[in-house]
Amino acid sequence: MTDLRPIALDLQDIHKSYGSLEVLKGVSLTAHDGDVISILGSSGSGKSTLLRCINLLEKPSLGKIIVGQEELKLKAHKGELVAADKKQLEKLRSKIGFVFQNFNLWPHKTILQNIIEGPTQVLGLSKAEAISDAERLLTKVGLLDKKDAYPDNLSGGQRQRVAIARSLAMRPQVLLFDEPTSALDPELVNEVLAVMRELAAEGRTMLIVTHEMRFAREVSSKVVFLHQGRIEEIGTPEEVFDNPKSPRVREFMASHR
Ligand code: ADP
Ligand code: MG
Repeated sequence: MTDLRPIALDLQDIHKSYGSLEVLKGVSLTAHDGDVISILGSSGSGKSTLLRCINLLEKPSLGKIIVGQEELKLKAHKGELVAADKKQLEKLRSKIGFVFQNFNLWPHKTILQNIIEGPTQVLGLSKAEAISDAERLLTKVGLLDKKDAYPDNLSGGQRQRVAIARSLAMRPQVLLFDEPTSALDPELVNEVLAVMRELAAEGRTMLIVTHEMRFAREVSSKVVFLHQGRIEEIGTPEEVFDNPKSPRVREFMASHR
């Protein structure tokens, strides 16, 4: 059945090599507005590389990237694709939020300063607007009382919730998460997943690399299993978790229960 929702992100035939090692071997994936796509796969299958290619943190060697209605203009440079138009790259990048495994907060800035930096510097919001946005987002992630603290004084779970708030402050159309809970102590995982669940329920478009199987099953509209740089299987959570066609996926699911 054709999906009538607008396309939020479209990846077409993405390839990526490091020297002679071909890490992505032609990945095509479409996220419609409101899709929550979980990306599963063993370590080294290319999950991080794929997310990083979306905003050219890594430069693909071949492929097309479309954000919303707009195709990212690329040109070849030493065997890699680079942005043909820096302004366009910046604009498309600002529509894509990225939440990393290790938070990447600025240690010398307070939580509030961490959040308002992008909106004031990149989006051109006034400081007052940015602060009011930041306070609303900190309330949403349950950390308004920490706004004047520094990242070092927060737990890992709190830091990741700040990183999510910071990402939301840029008003992104798509949110990418690369193993957002895997650096956390087990008792801190749920507070971060709870925030992500809420974002999913709000209809945000998200691509999530995760090993949290129960979570992926609950929130995803689509599940992708990556194996050696290719999509081995894609489907609804029911299809991929309960009834995988690929023996490889079956084996992975059996060992991740
Ligand atoms: P995943 O996130 O699924 O664990 P990655 O995307 O990090 O996998 O890595 C996929 C493959 O690409 C691995 O074999 C990894 O060693 C290789 N790789 C990743 N980044 C680089 C790099 N900067 N240089 C060379 N090889 C890399
Ligand atoms: Mg990875």
